Amino acid sequence: MSNKKVLVTGAAGFLGSHLCDKFIANGYDVIGMDNLITGSLRNIEHLVPLKEFQFYHHDVTKFVHVPEKLDYILHFASPASPIDYLKIPIQTLKVGALGTHNLLGLAKNKGARILVASTSEIYGDPLIHPQNEEYWGNVNPIGPRGVYDEAKRFQEAMTMAYHRYHGLETRIVRIFNTYGPRMRLNDGRALPAFMGQALRGEDITVFGDGSQTRSFCYVADLVEGIYRLLLSNYSDPVNIGNPVEITIKQFAEEIIKLTGTKQKIVYKPLPVDDPKQRKPDITKAKQVLDWEPKVSRSEGLKITYDYFKSLPEFKDVVAEV
Ligand code: UDP
Repeated sequence: MSNKKVLVTGAAGFLGSHLCDKFIANGYDVIGMDNLITGSLRNIEHLVPLKEFQFYHHDVTKFVHVPEKLDYILHFASPASPIDYLKIPIQTLKVGALGTHNLLGLAKNKGARILVASTSEIYGDPLIHPQNEEYWGNVNPIGPRGVYDEAKRFQEAMTMAYHRYHGLETRIVRIFNTYGPRMRLNDGRALPAFMGQALRGEDITVFGDGSQTRSFCYVADLVEGIYRLLLSNYSDPVNIGNPVEITIKQFAEEIIKLTGTKQKIVYKPLPVDDPKQRKPDITKAKQVLDWEPKVSRSEGLKITYDYFKSLPEFKDVVAEV
């Protein structure tokens, strides 16, 4: 019997590449698709020699043609950091809207089940805490983050429409802040920013007064939750994230301690619409998927720092320490 076949869009990105690894390890054949605007082939070069893996260089906002049978589609193509939204706002809107439409059409055509990557950003700057799946959000549609937030909200609406109108098997994961190896060093997110600054001997830039909170999930935990959701029979959105909440100032202090940098924290203006607090309510994931995160922040941060240290751009720096 042939292996089940999965299409992963955004395969050369941070989450997409880890999902490709997970499905290959679990005996699936994987087609990875990416237009490489924000993804990097470096993240999947270890998969390229495998007969279970194929790579299609393609932009999913254009018609998506896959000749093979498909059992599952995971739509993870999207810019996903505030710096990207400013640089490529139209592509961000298009991949969440047109890209999702194309992949829903492909899923229908192939009789495949599709899981789409949604986000805690659909809750905006939330007025309830922690955020559960029943909360509808507090989003500024025309702010700099609006291109991402509204594209993802549209994506959820479109996915539920295909589910209800066409009877398509759909899954929606709402992903909270996630970190781990293969994050882009210069994507402007807090963790790669702080670790990159520590490695370059620069001060650590905390935005605002650092009292805003986030809850950081290690990538292996997230990927396990997504895997379980795909194979479940639950079609409403599910939060996947780590509910351990921390202020960004504390987070910067933890990274200063881990890296041993002598640099100090410097404060910069808070970006527009930066959410004040964020923490997932994961009751549903526990009930429906029997899932909860296992990797502590101290373990996960150490693995991630080892990854950044091993990058070619830091080889010399680390040798000098
Ligand atoms: N942040 C920061 N310094 C940086 C980059 C980010 O203080 O150099 C803050 C950012 O303003 C936000 C938090 O860290 O409050 C998490 O930012 P990230 O971009 O990682 O995630 P998001 O804001 O999308 O949750």
